[in-house]
Amino acid sequence: MDKLKLCPFCGSVNLAQDAALSDYIECRDCGAYGPDGGVEGWNTRAESPELTAANARVAELKRVNAIMDEELRTKTQALFNLESENKVLKDIDAHRQPHFESLQQEYYAERDRRMKLEEALGQLHDSASEYAADQSGANDPRCGVVQPISVADGEALNDALRRAAALLEKK
Ligand SMILES: [Zn+2]
Repeated sequence: MDKLKLCPFCGSVNLAQDAALSDYIECRDCGAYGPDGGVEGWNTRAESPELTAANARVAELKRVNAIMDEELRTKTQALFNLESENKVLKDIDAHRQPHFESLQQEYYAERDRRMKLEEALGQLHDSASEYAADQSGANDPRCGVVQPISVADGEALNDALRRAAALLEKK
C-alpha cells in the first residue's frame, strides 16, 4: 500500500481504510473520509491552503533544524578539541613544575658558590696587596732583591688559594 498523505483537514496520520466503505480512507481523528479511488484518491485530493502552508512551514523548520544540528555538532567538536588541548597543556605544566623547581635550586646553589668564590678571591686579593706593600721597602726593585714573604702572609695566601681552588673544582 502506498504511503497515505496526512489528513487534509486535521493533519493526522491516524488513517485507515474503512472496512464498511472498503474503497474509502477514513481519518480516525476528525472523521473525514473519502473520496472514491482508495489510496490514490486520498493522496490526490485537494489539500486545504492552511494545511499546505503548515506543511511548508514544517519543511522549512526541519531545514533550519538540520542546519542548527550541524552547527551544534561542529561547536561540540570544537569544544571537545579545546578540552583535549587544555588537558595536554595542563599535563605539560605538571611535568614542567618539578623541573623548574630543580633548576631554581641549582641556580640558588650556583649563586651561593659564586658568592663564596668572590669572597675567597677578595681575601686572596687582600693577601696579595699586603705582600705587594711589603715589597715597597725592598732595597732596589731593579736588581730583583725582594723581601721574603712573612710566614703568616704566605699561609694566608695559600689558604685563600686553596679555598678558591676548592670552590672552582666543585663546579
Ligand atoms: Zn482528520
